[in-house]
Amino acid sequence: MIPFNKLYITGKEEIYVKDCLKRKHIHGDGYYTKKVNKFIEEKFNTRKALMTTSCSSALDIAAISLNLKEGDEVIMPSYTFVSTANAVVLRGAKPVFAEISKDTLNIDPRDVENKITNNTKAIFPVHYAGVSCDMDSIMDIAKEYNLKVVEDAAQGVNARYKGKYLGTIGDIACYSFHETKNYSSGEGGAILVNNDNDLCKRAEIIREKGTNRSQFFRGEVDKYTWVDVGSSYLPSDMLAAFLCAQFEKIDEIQESRKKVYDAYYVGLNELEKQGKLKLPIIPEHCESNYHMFYILLNSEKERDSLMYKLKERNIGAVFHYIPLHESPMGQKFGYKQGDLNITEDLSRRILRLPMYPELKAQEIEYIVKNIKGIL
Ligand SMILES: *Cc1c(COP(=O)(O)O)cnc(C)c1O
Repeated sequence: MIPFNKLYITGKEEIYVKDCLKRKHIHGDGYYTKKVNKFIEEKFNTRKALMTTSCSSALDIAAISLNLKEGDEVIMPSYTFVSTANAVVLRGAKPVFAEISKDTLNIDPRDVENKITNNTKAIFPVHYAGVSCDMDSIMDIAKEYNLKVVEDAAQGVNARYKGKYLGTIGDIACYSFHETKNYSSGEGGAILVNNDNDLCKRAEIIREKGTNRSQFFRGEVDKYTWVDVGSSYLPSDMLAAFLCAQFEKIDEIQESRKKVYDAYYVGLNELEKQGKLKLPIIPEHCESNYHMFYILLNSEKERDSLMYKLKERNIGAVFHYIPLHESPMGQKFGYKQGDLNITEDLSRRILRLPMYPELKAQEIEYIVKNIKGIL
């Protein structure tokens, strides 16, 4: 069986986790969490980075720190993971779904602008498959209408847009270190705050149960107390230790994924020329982190049939998001099938192929050969 995803272990994870145990500090914000935060701040160039228990919790912190409340609207793609919307909904605000572009499957800035009302407070762009959204247009719109931008960069760690790392362009950004992402600690995430000093302070407090405990440990206040809303969003230092090992190999891991991506691309090029499928597009100003390799078939029927036939041949190809506007929860907000035609069409024709650093050349060849045979 060639699975869809396989955890990559660098070999240092065990050493660092053992060292973490030896230090007898396994709760949050220990030696390794501080290392992770510093790594993110220095490598990607952001003002403040804080490791969290997940990208979902980082999105929650972002939504709380922006003071989202009932009556507020946040524009995001419908074609995303539920956490992007949940963060907003948990504050009582409304997710407003915009269309995606056909080339990258990222949110379409023109539709973002269409969806702005007097109640719009923020835009949550999602960098799908490790390829950046059109951030210049999104940041321009945000500036014009005075909106905050929270990048859902769960899939975008170590990818770039015009030289800048994803997660360092909006006001706030969220990373995921879930096992299915490029760099992993099993479960885990981070919140990045890029400019605003007050937002930095608030994110830190919200992450620490609404207390100024971090300021206390830095000696900035003489006791710590309850100063804001918050919850517990700190991961165990053991998870940070695991992630440190992955970060040491961040560029090697990305290079291995690029090899897989390139091999698929070359192997399937002929089928694209014959009009049997479409290959993913990386716009010129984007550097991908090769999180995903997907193909777009000509119809849902062809997609489903290919997926099942590949499964019969032990190849773990999978579809992706059910658009949120069509989901039972989306319908509770008054959305329905037919609202977003491009999103609905693309989500029904996408197929993601196995993608992980250790996927071998012969295995890719086997997958390509089977796709060719079936189509
Ligand atoms: C994986 C993912 C998340 C959630 O990440 P967790 O760390 O599992 O909470 C959120 N948004 C997107 C786009 C994702 O791909």
